[in-house]
Amino acid sequence: MSSSRRNFLAAGLALPVAATAKPGQQAPPAAPPAPRRAFAPEFRYRTLGKTGLRVTTLGFGCMITSDGSVVERAADLGITYFDTARNYGHGQNERMVGAALKGKRQHLVLSTKTEASSRQEALDQLDKSLQELGTDFVDIWYLHGKTSPAAVTDDLIEAQQAAKKAGKIRFAGVSTHGGQRELIPSLAANPHIDVILTVYNFTMEPFMNSVIEQAVKAGKGVVAMKVMAGGARRLRRGDPNLAKLQQQGAMPAALKWVLRNSNVSTTVPSMTDMDQLDDNLRAMSQTFGPEDEKLLAMHLDRIAPSYCRMCGECAGQCRQGLPVHDVLRFLTYAEGYGQFTLARERYLEMPPHHVSARCGDCPSCTVACPYGVHVARHVARAQEALA
Ligand code: SF4
Ligand code: SF4
Repeated sequence: MSSSRRNFLAAGLALPVAATAKPGQQAPPAAPPAPRRAFAPEFRYRTLGKTGLRVTTLGFGCMITSDGSVVERAADLGITYFDTARNYGHGQNERMVGAALKGKRQHLVLSTKTEASSRQEALDQLDKSLQELGTDFVDIWYLHGKTSPAAVTDDLIEAQQAAKKAGKIRFAGVSTHGGQRELIPSLAANPHIDVILTVYNFTMEPFMNSVIEQAVKAGKGVVAMKVMAGGARRLRRGDPNLAKLQQQGAMPAALKWVLRNSNVSTTVPSMTDMDQLDDNLRAMSQTFGPEDEKLLAMHLDRIAPSYCRMCGECAGQCRQGLPVHDVLRFLTYAEGYGQFTLARERYLEMPPHHVSARCGDCPSCTVACPYGVHVARHVARAQEALA
């Protein structure tokens, strides 16, 4: 293993370190966990477009959750929207979510996704999803990770329509990690699509507000993901300023920033532990204020050269044909979420010529990011760490 990958692992997977003892000394006993304070969240609800589904503005993105008790507690406390996907954790995530929500299903809005490329493959995946989730139907079934109108094929739309007819899904959706400028207006105009799940956070350009508004005016429900701009509460690569901002509440501030847009019906931040759940529940009932604004401005300053907004505006610019926004998204999974295994799996799912491409082979980088992301530097880091 190269030293840079070792460094990367150490940073991305920064976990609490047990107190160490000198040889011959007994390790001090671990401090007991702080008691959880009684906490009564104030829930806010919005309607998901013309679906009429009432959802809490804080939903639950289950992608990187492995502890089902966090999902279960969220449902018991009153969160009503839970999101997973067929390919999260090789299908294990749906199974975990299904087990955690057993007996509560009828009160909840449940969504999953398919990355299939054909009608039959999608319908087969849906059957598997229903089996793993332990339910007869999902409320929303998304075509996963589309970045252009052309990727939302007639074949896949037909699969959604057939699934609706069969009572296996209530509503059809599309999720997107990039290319929103063209994709969201095209989805807004598509009568077969009910819900759009999109990246949306404080780093976004104003055009995102207008395309979201366009979708809502067309009756679509809008769900926001990546609401914290890739920043979990992990201390990223030992940056003490970033760590301080995170301790001061930059992550709840980011959630509040998204929730102040009433066109967003709900959000699906990833939550892996009870503290994160509590922080987000508190943020749901608070108003975005000047302190939050200050924190986010400082946060944006810190992350600007490294955070990819996944806008897809650099699509087609890489001389080796790399999907830059995907590669940088995988890097965010590893560094922001601490999910190195997931990041590597996604990276290795790319076509072999993308997996083996190296920035070092380019005389210069042809990708110009309008937001100042140092593309070649970060893509090269992803190659070094994940290939
Ligand atoms: S690198 Fe820049 S232009 Fe490319 S997807 Fe990311 S933010 Fe957009
Ligand atoms: S340096 Fe990397 S990102 Fe830039 S053009 Fe070459 S392969 Fe693409």
